[in-house]
Amino acid sequence: MGNIIAIVGRPNVGKSTLFNRLVGAREAIVDETAGVTRDRHYGKTDWNGREFSVIDTGGYINDSDDIFEEEIRKQVKLAIEESDLILFLVDVAEGITDTDREVSHMLRKVTNKKVLLVVNKVDNTQRYMEANEFYELGLGNYFAISSMNGSGTGDLLDAVVTGL
Ligand code: GDP
Ligand code: MG
Repeated sequence: MGNIIAIVGRPNVGKSTLFNRLVGAREAIVDETAGVTRDRHYGKTDWNGREFSVIDTGGYINDSDDIFEEEIRKQVKLAIEESDLILFLVDVAEGITDTDREVSHMLRKVTNKKVLLVVNKVDNTQRYMEANEFYELGLGNYFAISSMNGSGTGDLLDAVVTGL
């Protein structure tokens, strides 16, 4: 059993905020290797006595850039190859986008490792209700979290260490 989890998703959904919440003040390693691996952040953390590594993918993809969809595809492929569990982060404030649908399509084909759908920015009850729309992505049940205030992240981490 491995212990690497990757956070994937389009720009601005909150990947780095979640990464920072999980890894906290511990040292994160920035991999600036040229190509698709540039700006990936790696960090170690633990939950319930279980250690694991977290990868924040797509560090500084410019979301105004036309190539960003292709970059996300590369990041997702890489995450599928090198991680043991994938957190697919989406943003309830934005709702479902075409890129979310495309990434879902890629991730639905993954059968040999766990993929957890995580709806971020669920900061309040209103957004908790709105998160329902993400069932439409066909990835099953989701975790509703706020990376900003931390709500829901305990349940998510329970599922992560169970799935590793
Ligand atoms: P990334 O591009 O996916 O790494 O996204 P970032 O972590 O950089 O976050 C993008 C923006 O969303 C920032 O302004 C964050 O402060 C904000 N953000 C992240 N998580 C949350 C959250 O749970 N709630 C709200 N309201 N904003 C969030
Ligand atoms: Mg980021």
